[in-house]
Amino acid sequence: MEKTPRSLRLHIALFGRTNVGKSTFLNMLSGQDVAITSPLPGTTTDAVEKTMELRPVGPVVLIDTAGLDDCSALGTERIRRSWKVFDRTDVAVVLCEAGVWGETEEDLLSEARRRGIPVIAAVTKSDAAPPDGAFLENLKARGASAVAAVSGTDRDRREKYLADFKKALIGVLPEDHISPPPLLGGVLPPGGLAVLVVPIDIEAPKGRLIMPQVQTLRDALDRDSIVLTVKENAYAESLRLLRREPNLVVCDSQAVDLVVRETPQEVPCTTFSILFARLKGDMRLLAAGTKAIGKLEDGDRILIAEACTHHASDDDIGRVKIPRWLRECTGARLDFDVSSGRDFPEDLSRYKLIVQCGGCMLNRREMLTRLQAAAGAGVPVTNYGMCISYAKGVFDRVMSPFRKELENI
Ligand code: SF4
Repeated sequence: MEKTPRSLRLHIALFGRTNVGKSTFLNMLSGQDVAITSPLPGTTTDAVEKTMELRPVGPVVLIDTAGLDDCSALGTERIRRSWKVFDRTDVAVVLCEAGVWGETEEDLLSEARRRGIPVIAAVTKSDAAPPDGAFLENLKARGASAVAAVSGTDRDRREKYLADFKKALIGVLPEDHISPPPLLGGVLPPGGLAVLVVPIDIEAPKGRLIMPQVQTLRDALDRDSIVLTVKENAYAESLRLLRREPNLVVCDSQAVDLVVRETPQEVPCTTFSILFARLKGDMRLLAAGTKAIGKLEDGDRILIAEACTHHASDDDIGRVKIPRWLRECTGARLDFDVSSGRDFPEDLSRYKLIVQCGGCMLNRREMLTRLQAAAGAGVPVTNYGMCISYAKGVFDRVMSPFRKELENI
């Protein structure tokens, strides 16, 4: 279970004032001394993440943030980073002490409400100062989705505190965690035949397939499907060897023009990146944003948003190939900026288009946060797969398996 990718785990973030007991609580949840604890305020200076299996919820990432009332010299930057953790938070835990609920906690509650994130108000140090019923009722009345009394120091009662917290957590699990959007659902029938086209080029990691390819393969197997995985240079021959046509062909975006050319018109065909636009993002928004490519003009600036900090090769997909293909397809002199990792710009107003990578390192919440930021700024956003397919003139073909979901765009 420890092997579950971080991006597929429920992200639970712990927020609160300095020294309220967030790190002690994290250690109590994980059963390990993950975060350094001390009675001195401000011991946690940056978000600390711990992946673990929290039964029966499943694989989670616990994020311990720095205190939001940190007045130290570095406090402003720490606080900014703590608020940024909301971008990837599925469930927010606001920790407070019994009887203490002020502006800091209210601000946290309203930020979570604004983003539609459920909040558990957890009253720490409950062994020493248990909250009374009126205080707990008040937290619910203020808008906390659930409340729990907890303590990280009373080891004898750890199981009870843990059980109470898990009960609260199960009660607020987001719907898309309980029933995640489909990866191959609706496009590959159970027991169907899928062909996955996987180029192995210089950018491919040594000795393994990349995560979207592995996840697609696993999803197909979960559907009792038959899967044939080939490199692009063996694709045409593999179709000739098959005794029946595949139900679905999925290819890497960089091979999309070749694969579309070789695939019989009646066989549904799409890309890994487009499948992930549906799983992690908002396919309708991304498909609508892709059409903005046709309106790009000389001098327009485009943001290429990578979600990791991989080493860029000389022919990097985001930094070299996509800019080249977009210039070729529009005939316009376009300018490009690149953001990588978690550095997604706050001011998007200078961009005419955002091209977001597949985001295999992001959880669904963080991807949606980016898409909402783009929509809020009125900037069209597409993703690598849709953008490349549009630039190569095969966009309608690779979106056709999702025709029903894309009606009226
Ligand atoms: S996070 Fe984005 S840029 Fe990094 S490997 Fe995944 S899809 Fe590519």
